[in-house]
Amino acid sequence: MKTSRRKFLGTMTGAAIIAGCANPKSSNESTSKTINDKHTDKIMDAIVVGAGLSGLMAAMTLEEAGLEVLTLEGRNRLGGRVYTLMDVPGKPEAAGEYIGANYARMRNTVKKLGLKLYNPEVNGIDRPWMYNIQGQNIDAKSWESHALNPLQGDDRAMLPHRFLSRISNIDNPLKDKGLDYWLSPEMQKYDIPHDQYLRSKGVSEEAIRLMNVVIHSGGMTNTSAINELRRYHVMDFNSKLSFEDGKSWKMVEGGNSLLPKAMAESLQHEPVLNKTVISFKEENGIVEIQCADNTRYKARQVVCSIPISVLRNVTFFPQIKGITKDAIDQIDYGLSIQAHYLIKSPFWEEDGLDGNMWTDGPIERFGVRTKKKESDQDAGVVFINGPESLKFRLMTDDQVFDYVEKELYKLRPSMEDKLERIMIQSCERDIHGAGDWVYWQPGQVTKFGNHMRKPHGNIHFCGEHTAIMERGMEGAFESGERAAMDIILNS
Ligand SMILES: Cc1cc2nc3c(=O)[nH]c(=O)nc-3n(C[C@H](O)[C@H](O)[C@H](O)COP(=O)(O)OP(=O)(O)OC[C@H]3O[C@@H](n4cnc5c(N)ncnc54)[C@H](O)[C@@H]3O)c2cc1C
Repeated sequence: MKTSRRKFLGTMTGAAIIAGCANPKSSNESTSKTINDKHTDKIMDAIVVGAGLSGLMAAMTLEEAGLEVLTLEGRNRLGGRVYTLMDVPGKPEAAGEYIGANYARMRNTVKKLGLKLYNPEVNGIDRPWMYNIQGQNIDAKSWESHALNPLQGDDRAMLPHRFLSRISNIDNPLKDKGLDYWLSPEMQKYDIPHDQYLRSKGVSEEAIRLMNVVIHSGGMTNTSAINELRRYHVMDFNSKLSFEDGKSWKMVEGGNSLLPKAMAESLQHEPVLNKTVISFKEENGIVEIQCADNTRYKARQVVCSIPISVLRNVTFFPQIKGITKDAIDQIDYGLSIQAHYLIKSPFWEEDGLDGNMWTDGPIERFGVRTKKKESDQDAGVVFINGPESLKFRLMTDDQVFDYVEKELYKLRPSMEDKLERIMIQSCERDIHGAGDWVYWQPGQVTKFGNHMRKPHGNIHFCGEHTAIMERGMEGAFESGERAAMDIILNS
């Protein structure tokens, strides 16, 4: 059942009501679930662009406040960077995966919409890694005493895939600070390349090289130390909390994509798909939105959840200028490519090494995927991110598979004939996504960090890249709620 406007207001502070939300300019009562092109003349109270988690959260919040809301989505599916491969055995998550205990808004929405979370542990994240470093296979137990281990003393027990998170987090200047402290003037001295920060702490070149394998961005030199310090600060915050069963991370039962689906179904007007927005034009307080198929929609208020780098391809009248324009032109997303396989038989039983493989070579990581059910067939994914993923921009899917398999079999002959190709998932070639996680380059937190949430007339921006406290999926929820509240409190 929908929350009535009265009920929503009952949960809000007096200040919020005085600020104007008691009288939003809701005009058109409509009972239709879906809106199609014949509604394009109607002036909506609000239009949300993008049906990822942030856009859907904004739409739900605006609707709960009594506004009539239309959501436009460019892709032919919901969820944006939440994407369960429902047709692939085991239903792997190709994007947003782990839901932390600290994901309050997300957990609340899951519960409200009647979905369940579960522990994705069968053959999954608990399986150990084998390492291939400088061409040598090394199992986890041998790493501490291995000659290629670049760390000293007790640190030698740290496994290579943990280097980036653990070493970055030593003496983290954000420790014991609030989750918004990364934006404070005191942190600006850390808005420098992450490798430079680590060198200043005495971290060796070899450790930095291994940390560079997994960094979710354009590499250590192109990433602000604040980006990484914040990432591990938020993770620390999560690890202090837990679900009722003591676990820190979960997924949605049946696949994370069921959440955006349920959010969309809860709306009075379900999102309209295949509506790639190409321009916003605001005149006399009304925003006209033009889509690539030449349809136009009008609204008094707009929430735009388009990833910031994709906004380079969108026109604004009046133009966006100044710092926000620089942010649109300069902020980027980490890139990644995934090659998904079915595992026909357990090659790890043949060679006695661990199933998961972490390498400092071109295929970076092969992970045996988390199973949704005990009975699911084993599946695996090669996950290559950061600068190494750039070369795939020019390859077809078959060329990516050929490249990946050649490298895998060189490293691990037991894998030959054990893999069946499923699909390539690429953030690289995706015009609506442009990457996986936003990242801050050196100097960008200082320049743009506090400008990301500034509206452009009646257009309000949300999306993970505008979140203050949280990151990832919960950051998306936080930002959608904030953008909706900006409208509710100020209209
Ligand atoms: C591989 C991978 C793994 C991840 N793992 C995790 C994890 O374990 N935990 C976690 O918390 N987070 C994770 N994330 C991050 C998380 O998925 C995202 O931060 C979050 O889903 C972003 O939501 P959003 O609404 O901000 O953006 P999006 O989901 O990108 O939503 C934006 C929407 O706008 C649409 N759009 C774009 N351009 C247009 C246009 N011109 N017109 C109309 N619509 C448009 C897009 O299609 C999309 O639906 C992961 C992401 C990836 C890619």
